[in-house]
Amino acid sequence: MKIAIIGAGVSGLVAAHLLHGSHDVTLIEANDHAGGHTNTVRVESDTGAWNVDTGFIVHNDRNYPRFQALLAELGVATQPAEMSFGVSDAVGDFEYNGSSPNGLYAKRSHLLTPSFQRMIADMVRFNREARELLETSPQTWDPSLREYLAARGYSDGFVERLLVPQASAVWSADPEQMWSFPARFLVEFFDNHGMLGFRDRPQWRTVVGGSARYVEVLLDRLGDERLRLSTPVESVARDDDGVTVTARGGEPERYDHVVLAVHSDQALRMLADPSEREAELLGAIPYQRNDVVLHTDRGLLPRRRRAWASWNYHLGERTTGRPTVTYHMNRLQQLDADREFCVTLNRGGDVRREHVIEEIAWDHPVFTAAGRVAQERWDEIDNVRRTSYCGAYWGWGFHEDGVASAVRAVAKLGGRSLS
Ligand SMILES: Cc1cc2nc3c(=O)[nH]c(=O)nc-3n(C[C@H](O)[C@H](O)[C@H](O)COP(=O)(O)OP(=O)(O)OC[C@H]3O[C@@H](n4cnc5c(N)ncnc54)[C@H](O)[C@@H]3O)c2cc1C
Repeated sequence: MKIAIIGAGVSGLVAAHLLHGSHDVTLIEANDHAGGHTNTVRVESDTGAWNVDTGFIVHNDRNYPRFQALLAELGVATQPAEMSFGVSDAVGDFEYNGSSPNGLYAKRSHLLTPSFQRMIADMVRFNREARELLETSPQTWDPSLREYLAARGYSDGFVERLLVPQASAVWSADPEQMWSFPARFLVEFFDNHGMLGFRDRPQWRTVVGGSARYVEVLLDRLGDERLRLSTPVESVARDDDGVTVTARGGEPERYDHVVLAVHSDQALRMLADPSEREAELLGAIPYQRNDVVLHTDRGLLPRRRRAWASWNYHLGERTTGRPTVTYHMNRLQQLDADREFCVTLNRGGDVRREHVIEEIAWDHPVFTAAGRVAQERWDEIDNVRRTSYCGAYWGWGFHEDGVASAVRAVAKLGGRSLS
């Protein structure tokens, strides 16, 4: 079949990689480069050169089996990443890095602060109790996070300065939205990722040389002639004999099949004739914008150096509806640099302009109970009307979900799986 794959993020790249060989594939991308959220920026100066990731950064050896299989197939090397999480205000009154006692009590007076002690005690209790929820049937009790935490009497400090920041950072989601998040999903995810305790944690890893390295190798194998960059698709129209794909400023092109590897809202927008089901399911998983700045302003890291973590969540004075996090890239990517490379989400205004390297906007899926139901109904629209769907939004929104969604979609088209 002649297949158009629209979107060259991880999902579209993997779909193309697995369909190439058994079908005639064309990978169509709106940007002038492939990778989507896999975006590595090369920073060069008189003292060195570094490849810094600004979107997809880390994976681990437990929850990313298909992505690791892809890297193995491509012969791309990875290295261990230090994963630590901390929370701070902008002024140094409150800050900790949860990875060690020294970091936890970065502000020494917290040793004598009852509310801080209660926060730690509640964390230990949550880690012990939360799994019980997974043993309860959803029919018996399926609380939102707010209901669960209220029923169990957790302190505000634990919820507002530890649990919600952590969940909001993991999903790049509005902290307020986490309250209505199904508690069961959160506990399940934390449990799967070894986040309920200090033992049995997976080893987190980054791609050596930056995550875009695997994109380069994959594209080399696919061949230049299969990739069309700077080609934003505006319309996808299906009929009995095929699919007409029209990009901005281009002529309509005919294909036998289309794989939509873009976000749910983008897919819905480009369909000339969405069915009711497509509109319902794609419409149930909205996306939210996150503004990202790559910079070297250490003022965005906690005041005390011992409170610096790989993921530094900022407690804002007012709610902005979006998570505010700074990733410390030197730690995550083992960068040996004479400056601190930081990637800050949704707090770009606080970064001193002379330290800004690049500003980017990423959209991230918003998960709700309705969205989870829609995900389970993927089969109702996939491979119907000559259209396949993949994208990280069909799972938890992570890289493994993008790869898994592509593997699942191409299987129905006779594509191969990852070895
Ligand atoms: C700041 C940030 C950090 C993250 N860090 C991690 C991490 O460390 N680990 C992890 O597992 N996940 C991380 N993620 C999640 C990440 O989103 C997923 O891992 C994954 O990369 C998403 O892949 P995708 O293929 O679904 O979408 P995308 O990567 O967004 O790809 C979609 C592609 O479709 C293209 N496109 C859109 N519209 C059109 C059109 N009309 N025509 C043609 N092409 C179009 C886009 O340009 C894009 O290239 C992070 C996300 C963000 C925002």
